[in-house]
Amino acid sequence: MPKIITLSADIIAKTAAGEVVERAASVVKELIENSIDAGASDIQVEAEASGYNKISVTDNGTGMDKEDVFACFKPHTTSKISTENDLTCIKTLGFRGEALNSIASVSKLIIKSRHANSPVGALAEVEGGKVIKTGTVGMPTGTYIEVRDLFYNVPARKKFIKTALTEYRSLLDNTINYALAHPDIGLSLKHNRKIIFDLPKNRGISERLQVFLDANITDKLFPIKTEDSYFKLTGYISKPQAATESSRNQYLFVNGRPVKNLLVASVIKNAFGTLLEPRAHPPFVLFLNMPFEVVDVNIHPRKNEVAFFNEHELSQFIDQAVKAALKHEDLTYTTDFLDGYTDKSSDTYMFRVLKDGVNIWEAAPKEQNEEFGEVLQIHNLYLVTQTKRGLLLIDQHAAHERILYEQFMEAFKEKNKESAFLDPPSIINLNLTEIGVLNQYIEILTELGFDIERFGDNAYKVSCVPYLLKEQNVERIVKEMLSELAEGKSPRDINKKSLQTLSFLACRSAIKAGDFLTPEERLNLVKKLMETKTEYTCPHGRPAKIEVPLRDLARVFKRIR
Ligand code: ADP
Ligand code: MG
Repeated sequence: MPKIITLSADIIAKTAAGEVVERAASVVKELIENSIDAGASDIQVEAEASGYNKISVTDNGTGMDKEDVFACFKPHTTSKISTENDLTCIKTLGFRGEALNSIASVSKLIIKSRHANSPVGALAEVEGGKVIKTGTVGMPTGTYIEVRDLFYNVPARKKFIKTALTEYRSLLDNTINYALAHPDIGLSLKHNRKIIFDLPKNRGISERLQVFLDANITDKLFPIKTEDSYFKLTGYISKPQAATESSRNQYLFVNGRPVKNLLVASVIKNAFGTLLEPRAHPPFVLFLNMPFEVVDVNIHPRKNEVAFFNEHELSQFIDQAVKAALKHEDLTYTTDFLDGYTDKSSDTYMFRVLKDGVNIWEAAPKEQNEEFGEVLQIHNLYLVTQTKRGLLLIDQHAAHERILYEQFMEAFKEKNKESAFLDPPSIINLNLTEIGVLNQYIEILTELGFDIERFGDNAYKVSCVPYLLKEQNVERIVKEMLSELAEGKSPRDINKKSLQTLSFLACRSAIKAGDFLTPEERLNLVKKLMETKTEYTCPHGRPAKIEVPLRDLARVFKRIR
């Protein structure tokens, strides 16, 4: 007896619907997309019970004539593409012709629409995919779509519905995505009869950022605007100060489509280099535009992922754009970020050994226009001095780390490594893990001025070290360095590996919290920090200096309000 049967159209529709309509928020997304594709300049969204009782979307777009109203909820019906070739150049948000059909098969749907050429609108009511009523209605040009009792006929799906709050959050997120993606379009959202937001059209993106992002993020955004013959990138990225451990506030719109894209997010993060702590992500709202032919939007039924044909060129373009924009910004931490700051420096071994051997004052001179007054040292941890703008606080360890990091970097880049010969060479014994790490990093260590070679079974001979480390306990430094490098995740990228090694060396060679500096050393430290290329943070992304402007002091002392 054969066991295989052909599924009924009804079951096929219901199973397929799950791919597009995962939850109420997906319905909202699809309906908004359709309104945008129809050229609407005003869209009103209403929902009840996180969208599970009712969702309606009203727009003033082109509308549909009668035939289209009766066709649009049928399987695989679309007005947006017609040939296979069209798939290579998709200009609209929709194109798969599935959304309305999916929604229709798992809800009670009402469609009213009037095309500009028709004197009246057409109406269709569909329940679980079956048409139950058609007719005409008086209405302005545009479309009204109402979805009631989502999943009423798919009990299995209902089990996956999360709490009302989670579902509402997701519906809100989807709506916000399009509000940010298309600031030219007026968009309102009502939930349980309450107006959540009502955004007028054509007021620009910055007004919407104020509405949807926290003030501590909008305060720290800087603009980015750049294009070449291929790509165009505009929008805003936050300074490191507003970075968080979650990537929640990262919005990317590719040709007007909200997408999640790990490549772009990681290129942006990497462009910040040592300005960010390893787990921090900078918020951004970015509009990336490129020819429709070079981005594939057809990789998932929900259309919220894309694949770029020229990943490499795109990465370079974004990397350069972000780096260039960062260069123009003052990234100094101000006092509102003192909250939660903790000193993570721990080991004082290297300080004790290196204190007198390290020449702090060697970074390449940069134009210096700031006159510093006397520099005070507070609790052997921080330096305090006055600048033209107010008060400057410096973390002595972080600052010195930054200075040394740039010195190491200079030496590394120019390969004019200043090495010191060890006479006699130091013979060190390494365990298997250490040997493994050494093999991975040997090239970089050589570039830095180390000369390490195998000397016996587990024995290695160190005959040269970077100048800054001469006369130190070579065995201890090398072992510490290898175990630190072994602990961290080893980046595959050779550039990242060298940055990791350099920041380790900088950290270990830097003066530590708790050490006394002479007045002359303090002033030199401040000056040298200002001469570095990135004086804002240590190489691990923690603040090196914090500025308190006179204006803020005046506020605290209530001289001004
Ligand atoms: P797709 O958007 O992929 O084409 P949908 O199922 O979402 O598929 O919509 C089917 C068709 O219905 C669309 O191609 C469009 O012609 C029409 N349509 C849907 N919503 C609207 C709307 N709000 N205004 C005008 N036409 C619409
Ligand atoms: Mg659609």
